[in-house]
Amino acid sequence: MAIETVGIIGAGQMGGGIAQVAAMAGFKVLLYDISADRIEKGLATVSGNLARMVAHDKLTEDARKAALGNISAANEMSDLAGADLVIEAATEDESVKRKIYTQLCPQLNPEAILATNTSSISITRLAAATDRPERFMGVHFMNPVPVMKLVELVRGIATDDATFEAAKVFAAKLDKTVTVSEDFPAFIVNRILLPMINEAIYTLYEGVGTVDAIDTAMKLGANHPMGPLQLADFIGLDTCLSIMQVLHDGLSDSKYRPCPLLVKYVEAGWLGRKTGRGFYDYRGEHPVPTR
Ligand code: NAD
Repeated sequence: MAIETVGIIGAGQMGGGIAQVAAMAGFKVLLYDISADRIEKGLATVSGNLARMVAHDKLTEDARKAALGNISAANEMSDLAGADLVIEAATEDESVKRKIYTQLCPQLNPEAILATNTSSISITRLAAATDRPERFMGVHFMNPVPVMKLVELVRGIATDDATFEAAKVFAAKLDKTVTVSEDFPAFIVNRILLPMINEAIYTLYEGVGTVDAIDTAMKLGANHPMGPLQLADFIGLDTCLSIMQVLHDGLSDSKYRPCPLLVKYVEAGWLGRKTGRGFYDYRGEHPVPTR
């Protein structure tokens, strides 16, 4: 089935980014979230990003208008009924995702493909919560979506070849490079990245270094473009914690134990950039370390 209309569930950092690249590639995009306010914020972010691209000569004014014209708000889940592909990019919480699928599936075209942008949760287990495990798979974009070239494709045990091929074609149309990962906790990128970030938080927790020392050490000492604590704030500390919990539960190895300091930041609601505070405080002109 040709993909023309893409529904996106979750208008946060990732959903907005996916909406933007899909609209720029000429797909009709329907953006849904739990509240109209979040959809509006998501659309405003996309609009701002596109305007910035025009200002930096990375997009023509006509292309900006065309991309914006391709995105509309889906105020009800039933507005996604005409989508050929729905990408779920809601909060990294299995119960949230399962609830969405239960509500969504009866409203979708039986032929529609359902994909999840989960960073870590078992595709096979999520697929089992849908009415279409054969047309369900992981299509894992990286943050920020318009900038990062990679999409990790993950098949569940039941994903059929047509779905996998359709996802490959879709990613190619977005000008992304795909890698294929088996369905193990956190797949490839986050299996490697998140334990490093968690270790950076332990390094802070144990007083080995300050936020600034740890990030500077990894930027200048390991040639990373961002320090691990800066990156954690960028990903979202709630997402980082969920991924570590999936690794810890799924692989039953104490080396994946989430750092208690990460838990504390999440409990405080200091989730990083998206809430204005995490390992850095973003509310002023420049980010200031919070420890
Ligand atoms: P986010 O917190 O920015 O956005 C999540 C959005 O989901 C919010 O707008 C929230 O309102 C919405 N939501 C929650 N419950 C919902 C429901 N029942 N129905 C509809 N919408 C609902 O999070 P994010 O960073 O965009 O992450 C979203 C997904 O993408 C997660 O699965 C995450 O693991 C994955 N992901 C994140 C990153 C990253 O770096 N942040 C990278 C790759 C993948």
